Amino acid sequence: MAAQENLQRAAVLVAPSKNPEFNVQLVPRPVPGPNEVLVRLSLTSICGSDYGLASGELGETRTILGHEGVGRVVELGSGVPAIDPSVQVGQRVGVGWARDACGACGWCTTLAQDGETRCAERVTSGRVVDGTFAEYTVVPARYLCRIPAAYDGVPDEHVAPVCCGGVTAYKAIKGCGVVPGRWIAVSGAGGGVGALAVAFARAMGYRVVGVDAGADKGRFCLEQGAEHFVDITALAAGEDPGPEVRRLTGTEGVDAVIVTSGAAAAYQAAFSMLGPFGTLMCVGLPPADRLVHFHPAMCVAFGWQVKGSAVGTRRDILEALEFVRRGLVTPRTEWGRLEDMTTLLENVVRGKILGKYVIKLDGEDSSKTTEAPAS
Ligand SMILES: [Zn+2]
Ligand SMILES: [Zn+2]
Repeated sequence: MAAQENLQRAAVLVAPSKNPEFNVQLVPRPVPGPNEVLVRLSLTSICGSDYGLASGELGETRTILGHEGVGRVVELGSGVPAIDPSVQVGQRVGVGWARDACGACGWCTTLAQDGETRCAERVTSGRVVDGTFAEYTVVPARYLCRIPAAYDGVPDEHVAPVCCGGVTAYKAIKGCGVVPGRWIAVSGAGGGVGALAVAFARAMGYRVVGVDAGADKGRFCLEQGAEHFVDITALAAGEDPGPEVRRLTGTEGVDAVIVTSGAAAAYQAAFSMLGPFGTLMCVGLPPADRLVHFHPAMCVAFGWQVKGSAVGTRRDILEALEFVRRGLVTPRTEWGRLEDMTTLLENVVRGKILGKYVIKLDGEDSSKTTEAPAS
């Protein structure tokens, strides 16, 4: 179905709920302001946090979610040629979680900490501005994530998952500052971000132990490059996975645990996996009322650090894409359709998809998108 002029197809969130429903509607195509560009999205993938948004857990949202998009600039706002003549129609771009950075707040101006992704204005995709579950989106010219021509050989379905899941995984690993060759644990390793964290960590030279629930996820983690897998469903209820992590890795504990799970219990368990001077890297977000406990003595006596990582800068996206271009990381994907968003997101939250759903938005290859996903 070709969109009529000035209209576009979008998967629209009907109402936020624990079982969010979407339907495909023809809605007005966005019009770029003077300092913005219009992007024709060719593909989007689905991130786990789209469920957090759709369920209302992360607060108020827009009705068009999505923040792993890829497309090309098709129209320039009237002021863009004067602001930045290098922005051209036809430029390939990625569209991630962070949609703008003010450049002036305390986060943005802390360049050494890559503060742009924590901008005080927090213009985020699907929450403050419409997301990528649509044919078009507008992006401020000053915050374009340009994908250089050197990446033209990387297909959209491998670029999009890097725009949030991949860069989040890559940046979290980078932020641990661990020496390559050392052990890293990924908790929630069978999830969308977790599996990418396993693959990136392996490609970046680390040894990886995955922690998650179930044999399917275990096989998936090993395929992605983990050397070992700890299946928490194989432990006794409430049993601490730390000793098994130490036994499998032959260490006093790993140098870093990247927690991509949103379960408070996964955070609690992560402490027991840490070795000397270990870093616990927070990525997954438990519900706001679920707290994690630790005693300061852990940091004093063992030199542990607790840090958090938030997606990544546009530079990080390109660094992560370089691993994909070189064939060292290939996101595992399954095709879905915009029409099936309700089911797709349900499969994501229930852990029924290994890897990422990718959805074509330009309709050029309907053969790939005619099969409804198994639910
Ligand atoms: Zn995301
Ligand atoms: Zn800012």
